[in-house]
Formats: sequence, C-alpha cells, structure tokens
Amino acid sequence: MFKKILIANRGEIACRVATTARRLGVATVAVYSDVDAQAAHVRACDEAVHIGGAAARDSYLQWQRILDAALATGAQAVHPGYGFLSENEDFARACAAAGLVFIGPPAEAIAAMGSKSAAKSLMEKAGVPLVPGYHGRDNDPALLQREADRIGYPVLIKASAGGGGRGMRRVDRAEDFAAALASCQREAQASFGDDHVLVERYVSRPRHIEIQVFADGHGQCVYLFERDCSVQRRHQKVLEEAPAPGMSAARRAEMGAAAVAAAQAVGYVGAGTVEFIVEPEAGADAGSEVGRFYFMEMNTRLQVEHPVTEAITGHDLVEWQLRVASGERLPATQDALRMRGHAIEARICAENPDAGFLPATGRLDVLRWPAHVAFTRHASGSGHEPSAAVRVDAGVREGDAISPHYDSMVAKLIVWGEDRAQALARLDAALAQTHIVGLQTNVAFLRRVVASRSFAEADLDTALIERERAVLFDQQGLPLHWAAAGVIAQALQAESALQGADPWSRRDGWRIHGGARRRFDLKRGEVHHIATLERHHDGRLQLAMGEASWPLAVTALGGDRHDITLGGERRTLAVHAVGETVAVFGTEGSVELQDFDPIAHAGDHAEAGGRLTAPMPGKVVALLARAGDTVERGQPLAVMEAMKMEHTIAAPRDGVVAELLYAVGDQVGEGAELLRLAD
Ligand code: ADP
Ligand code: ADP
Ligand code: MG
Repeated sequence: MFKKILIANRGEIACRVATTARRLGVATVAVYSDVDAQAAHVRACDEAVHIGGAAARDSYLQWQRILDAALATGAQAVHPGYGFLSENEDFARACAAAGLVFIGPPAEAIAAMGSKSAAKSLMEKAGVPLVPGYHGRDNDPALLQREADRIGYPVLIKASAGGGGRGMRRVDRAEDFAAALASCQREAQASFGDDHVLVERYVSRPRHIEIQVFADGHGQCVYLFERDCSVQRRHQKVLEEAPAPGMSAARRAEMGAAAVAAAQAVGYVGAGTVEFIVEPEAGADAGSEVGRFYFMEMNTRLQVEHPVTEAITGHDLVEWQLRVASGERLPATQDALRMRGHAIEARICAENPDAGFLPATGRLDVLRWPAHVAFTRHASGSGHEPSAAVRVDAGVREGDAISPHYDSMVAKLIVWGEDRAQALARLDAALAQTHIVGLQTNVAFLRRVVASRSFAEADLDTALIERERAVLFDQQGLPLHWAAAGVIAQALQAESALQGADPWSRRDGWRIHGGARRRFDLKRGEVHHIATLERHHDGRLQLAMGEASWPLAVTALGGDRHDITLGGERRTLAVHAVGETVAVFGTEGSVELQDFDPIAHAGDHAEAGGRLTAPMPGKVVALLARAGDTVERGQPLAVMEAMKMEHTIAAPRDGVVAELLYAVGDQVGEGAELLRLAD
C-alpha cells in the first residue's frame, strides 16, 4: 500500500478519498486554488499545496504544478477524483513519466473510451450491444443526414468527445437535422475543442442503467452490480439508486457480462462504469422488468454515484482503487460479491429548479445535515458490514461559499434501507432535516421528486422530471401562514431573550413594541405579504394574513426549533434567521422570507427597465441578437455559461436592442449589464 498520495481534486470527492486513505493509514496531500485555502478538503488532508488561481484552468487543471506538488511532498501516487484531470490520458501518462502512480486506468484505456464514436467501434467488435446508429469517422453533413434518415426519427446527435450532457441534440424531423447538426458541432467545438459527432436512434422513454466494473493488474475483472440513474435533468443525474427496480437476476448477469467484456476489450484496470441505455419492452408498465440494453459510453473513473454501490455491497470502492493501484489483487471475486438492501443518492446542488436549474452562488449561512454516520466502516474483502442508514458526503462546511468557479454540486445524501420503501422513507426524512440557508438549493425539489408518483412507484425513465412537472415546480411547500408564524415565533423569542424574560408565560406588562398589535412585512420572491400579530389582554395571540386569521401559540423548544399551534393545529418548525432572510423548515418543506422594510425599499425597481443583467458570474458564450434588432418578449438574446451549464437570457419585453456591452468569450460578474433594450 502507498505511504502517501496526492489528491488532485477538491470538494466532496477529495474529502471522501481522504477519509478512506486515513482509515488505511495512507497520508494525504491536498492541492488548492486561491479561493480554497480554507476549504474542507484542505482540512481533511495531512498536507496541502497551493497551485494557483481560482479558475480551474489556473489550478486544478494545471497538471505540471500538481505533479511538482506530488514530487515535492514525496507522494507516490495521484488520485484524480472525477471531473478535472480524471479522464485526461495525457495527465495519466505524465504521472507515469514523473514516476508517480496514476490511481486510475491505463492511459490507453482512457484514450480508447475517450471518443464515444471510436469506443462504439471497439464495442461492436467485442460483441457489446449498441444503439442502432452511425459512429464512423466521416462527418460529411450530407452523409450524416442520409444516416439519420436511414436510422429513422427521432435521432440523437452526440458530440463524440462529449460529457456532462453537453452538445446533445434530439431531432424529430428530417428537415430539422441540418440545423441541429450545426448547433451540436458548434457546442462540441466550443466545449471540447472537437466537433466530431455520432448519430443514433433516440430511444423513447429509456432508462439509464450502468454497471460498476473493477479490474486489477492480474487479469481479474468483476462487476459490482448496477445503478439506475434515470432521474435526470438536462441529461445529468439527479437521483441514483441500486439495485435497479425490475432487474431480474438473468438480466443483471447479462449486463454484468457485457460490461466486463467492454472493460476487457480496452485492457481496463481500476474502477470504471459502463453506461447502458435501456429500452422499455413494448406495452410494459410501471416498475416492469428491465428491457433491452445498449452500450452508451464508459466512464473511465470513479463515478459521483459510487456510494450507492458501496451501500449495497459493503465494499469501499476507494479502498479498492488504492489496493489495485498499488499492485494488489481485487479484494473480492465475482462469486463472493453480494448485495443487500436498497440505496439511493440525492445530489444536492446550489441551483434554482424553478428557473431552469440556474446554478446559484453564495454563502452557506446555515448548513445542517440530518443525523448520520459520517462514513460507513467497511471491512476489507468481506463486505457486508451493516450499512449506515444515512451518509452525507460533503465538501463544504457552514460558512463556506459556493463560488462560480466550480460546479454546483454541494454534497450528496445517501440512504440505505432493507428495501426500496424503507430507503425512500429515509431519504425523505433526511432531506427534510437538511437545512440550507444563504443560497438556493434543490433540496425541496428533491423531496418532491422522491414523493412523486413516478418515483415512488419506480416508474423510472429519463423523462420522469418532465412528466411530473406539475407537482415538481413552483410549489409553495410549507403554507405561507405557517412560515409567517415561524418568523413571528422567532422574532418573539429574540425579543424575550433581549428582555431576559419569557413573554409567553407573562400575563401582564408585555407589549409588542409598546402596543398590542404588530405588523410584519414579509417578502417572498417578489411578492410582499403583510402578517399582523395581535395580542389580547389575556395574553392570547391572533395571527392575521389577508382575509384570514388564526389563534397562535408558540413554545420555544431551544435552538432554532419552535412548537407552533395555529388555529388548533400543531407543528414543529425550525427557523433560521440570517440578516434579513428568515428560512422556515417544516415537514411539508421550507419557505424563505425576507424581513421587508417597505419604506427602505421604495423605488428599488425604478430604473431596471431597459437593462439586461447577468444572473450570475460567468462567460458569454453566444450573442443571439445585434444592435438595432427588433426583438419580442421571450426571445433569446444571449447565452451565458457558468458552473458548466448554459443559460439563455431572454428579452423581458418587446423592444429594440440598443447596445451590446460584452462580446462572446468575455467573463462577466453577477449583475453585470449585458445589453440594453430600447422601445
Ligand atoms: P457522472 O456520470 O459521474 O455523474 P458527470 O458528468 O455528472 O458524471 O460529472 C461528474 C462530476 O465531475 C461532476 O459533478 C463534476 O463534479 C465533475 N466534472 C465533470 N466535468 C468536469 C469538468 N469539465 N471540470 C471539472 N469538473 C468536472
Ligand atoms: P454524457 O457523456 O453527457 O454522459 P451519455 O452518452 O452518457 O452522455 O448520455 C447522457 C444521457 O443522455 C443518458 O443518460 C440519457 O438520458 C440520454 N441519452 C443518451 N443516449 C440516448 C439515446 N440514444 N436515446 C435517448 N436518450 C439518450
Ligand atoms: Mg454519460
């Protein structure tokens, strides 16, 4: 085993690798950028080396500096995590050239799977089933159009060098093909520096099921069962689970064998994932058996969702990686691998699901996790230690900032249960206990996905989020009057703390700001709400909002928690106040309100009229209008990229573009004015 390794990554994966290394007695070296000097991953490691500026290309992608750091600290191996340099064959080669072990597959295997088209040609030879399509080298547009016509619509055009759901275009009609091809190639060139594409049949209502494979340097290769990652947004995973509902033992063995064949065809060593797209059987219904499967791609690294596999097998995949990279044999044979129970992972991201999953930045003013076991203790080799019911893999702590420089995933919540129903219940409870204040996250959205009919009944396919739209988006969660009651409870508690007395037990003398009536101005989003609290002479309280009014009683439970009785119903609410923002969490969800001073904010929006500003810091990747163009409300005007996602900025009203203030390629700050609209 290694004595010391360098972890060439940040965030949760760097922390996660450090945890296993520590358990195995392996010392760790972190690397960090300017903005990460105090980051959790730096604290999690034994040593740390500064490698450059905030932008990934100035630090986490600077491989010479990373290699220098490894050599200077005496590390023997480099763990790349995922993202960044993990699938960079040149980096893998450079590690070897510097005398360092790259904890990942051989550079040749990364190269072979790096191009989706070339990988498909290899897989065809290895007898792995492929989606019918065209993956040749010749990318002549007329030829591609003929191939698409032959395959039959809908088809999917994919960037051969693609990843992260980027560059993919679904085409429903022959006449739309040429335009979609051009746009896919543009994005592929811009994102991956390579405009090669492949065309394949678009599988309707597919499931994404992937197989975890592991190979050692002694010719052994096993599969650690499957993960179902069908719940996606923008072709990116949101929830992942293992095992896949409806998977028969026979189909599992078949897919496992295909995945092992795929790995062996490229001389694979280490952890890898073979992704398959699964077509529903004709006439199949919810929760039915896993249908026909086709190879999609192989990810030559550890995957974000690997913890669900750890939870059902009891094996620590990072430990396996370290053992295999140091020359040991695989810790278990295929026959010895067993799975138990059901696990689900939820990716917690800083984003606004109601605004097209726009990434969010900001400070994690409040960050509370459910009660959990920080990390499952795994028994090497044997597996099957009792799994933690709830595991949190986070790379942040309360008070940390989510910056625009890296991706928007904040943490992962992983639950395990004896069966899917128990795992679902635990996930819902764990999400309800996850309190994040200070920036927008998808926590409430995830709870709604988990509670949706489709997910609850395991009616899984990649269109699940779209199909359940009505119950997933723009939901109010906790009713507003309950949230208002929470805010008021907190205000009263704060006042009683100031006065050194409990206003709820005092029968006399207590005045709310000298009177028996107090008005609370609360803002939720752009809407202003007024709540009025009235105190009767006998001490009873009455809360009024709009036309309605309810008797209110509050008991402080200590910390942020309050027992609130409103109109005869009782709930426990957690209230977190940060500056003017008050977040209230209840079992139905959460509501964020601004304590709003109507006078101070009068006239705020007076001059906003013709300005179009960047919703977050990022890069301008396309301008879709020119100065002088007449545009209609809703028409896309510019595309920005931040945190590895693209965002379209649309005209808020009809008008004429007066001026463009930035050019394609420019970096812009949050709130920067991008263009001006005139009437
Ligand atoms: P997976 O199939 O493992 O979910 P993703 O495509 O979602 O793969 O990417 C995995 C993770 O890798 C992302 O959440 C992100 O942290 C990281 N990542 C992906 N691409 C990049 C990139 N170009 N630069 C930095 N990190 C990346
Ligand atoms: P990436 O490299 O971006 O991960 P993949 O090829 O793995 O690209 O595909 C990502 C997602 O796109 C899949 O999980 C699936 O939702 C969708 N997808 C890919 N291929 C097809 C297809 N042929 N038909 C329908 N959906 C597809
Ligand atoms: Mg993929």
